[in-house]
Amino acid sequence: TVTFSVENVRKDFPILSATVHDRPLVYLDNAATSQKPIQVIDCITDYYKTYNSNVHRGVHTLSQLATEAMENARLTIARHLNAAHAHEIIFVRGVTEAINLVANAYLSLVPRGWQILISAMEHHSNIVPWQLAAERYSLKLRVIPMDSHGVLDLEAYDRLLKAENTALVAVNHISNALGTINPVQQIAEMAHKAGAVILIDGAQSIPHMAVDVRAIGADFYAFSGHKACGPTGIGVLYGRENLLEAMPPYMGGGEMIKTVTFEKSSWAELPFKFEAGTPDISGAIGLRAAVEYLQRVGLEQIAAYEQELLEYATAALREMGGICIYGQAPQKASLISFIPDGCHPYDVGTLLDNYGIAVRTGHHCAQPVMDFFNIPGTVRASFAFYNTKEEIDLFINALRKAIKMLR
Ligand code: PMP
Repeated sequence: TVTFSVENVRKDFPILSATVHDRPLVYLDNAATSQKPIQVIDCITDYYKTYNSNVHRGVHTLSQLATEAMENARLTIARHLNAAHAHEIIFVRGVTEAINLVANAYLSLVPRGWQILISAMEHHSNIVPWQLAAERYSLKLRVIPMDSHGVLDLEAYDRLLKAENTALVAVNHISNALGTINPVQQIAEMAHKAGAVILIDGAQSIPHMAVDVRAIGADFYAFSGHKACGPTGIGVLYGRENLLEAMPPYMGGGEMIKTVTFEKSSWAELPFKFEAGTPDISGAIGLRAAVEYLQRVGLEQIAAYEQELLEYATAALREMGGICIYGQAPQKASLISFIPDGCHPYDVGTLLDNYGIAVRTGHHCAQPVMDFFNIPGTVRASFAFYNTKEEIDLFINALRKAIKMLR
C-alpha cells in the first residue's frame, strides 16, 4: 500500500507547476530524464555559494569542505547500492561513460577471440562501446534474443554461454524502450557459472527500485544521476574491488596518478585511478541529495505507486482500443511504449505537446528493438512517483483528440 503523499512530493519539484502552451505541464518523459526536487537544486547552489573549491589537493578550508562533501556522496551511494567499499564507487558522467570505461579497461585483459554477450533490448550505449571494443581487442559480440512480448530468451542465453568462452555479459536491468524488468540475478548467476562477469545497465532501475548490487550479483553496475532526480553530468560505475584493481586506467591526467616522470607513471589507489581530472564536484554533491531524497520517499513506496500508475494507464489505453503496446513482459516498470493504429509516433508527440503533455517519440536509442518489431519508433509515456492519475487522465484525453485529428 502506498502511504506517501504525492501532493506533498509535487511541492518539492518547482518545474511541476510550469505551464506549456498555456496548459499545466504533464511531464511523462521520465525515462529520458527526471525532474529535480528543490533539495537537490538548493544543495548545488549552496555548494557554489558557500564552499566551491577544487577537491583532493588543497589544504585550505574550502577545499577540505568540498572534498569531504564529495567523499560523503561516494559513501552515501556505496551504502545505497550496498557496495562492500566506498572505493568501488567511481564517479563518471553517466551510464555511457561507465560502459565505455569497462569496455576499454576490462576488456583489455580478456584473451582474444572470447565473446561478449549483450541482449536484444539494449540502449545504444550498451551496444556501441562493445562493438568498438570487440574490434579493438579482437573479441566477438553476440546477442541474447527476446520474444515478441519483450522477454529475454534465457534458454538461448544458456546455449550462447555454452558455445564459446564468454568474457562479459552486459544487459540492462530495465529496458528503456519496452519497460521489461529483466531477471538480472538469474542472468548474473548463469554468467558466473560460465566464468563470465556481468555488467548491469541500471539507468532505468535506479530511479524506480531499491538496488543491492551484491544481492543481484553485479560485477559492474552503472547508473546516471539525471534519471534519478539528480543533476546531469554525473553518474556512477560500481565495480567489484578485485576487478577494478586489476583493470588499467581508462583516462590519464591529474588526480589519477601516484607518481609521474617522463619515462613512467604509476597509478593512484581506487577510486581515483579511474577519476582523471577535476571531477563534477557539484554533480556528486547533488547526486547525494537526490539519493537521500529517494530514500526519504522510500523506494518500495515509489515502486508500488508507480505500478499503480502503470496499471491505470495501461487499462486506459486498452480501453481506448486501436493502440498497439510494445513490451508486455509480466515484470514491467512504469513506462508504456505504444503506437496508435494509423498514426506516426512523431505526429502524436507533437500534438500532445500542444496540450502540455511531454512524452518521448522515436527509437529511444534502441534502434535494434524498433527493427525487431519492424516499426520506425514508438510514443513512450514514462511515469515517475510525482505523476498522478489526474495527469494520466489529461494525457489520455489529449491522446484521444490527437488520434482523431490524425486518423
Ligand atoms: N541505458 C539505458 C537503459 C538508458 O535508458 C539510457 C538513457 N536513455 C542510457 C543507458 C544512457 O544514459 P546516459 O545518456 O545518461 O549516459
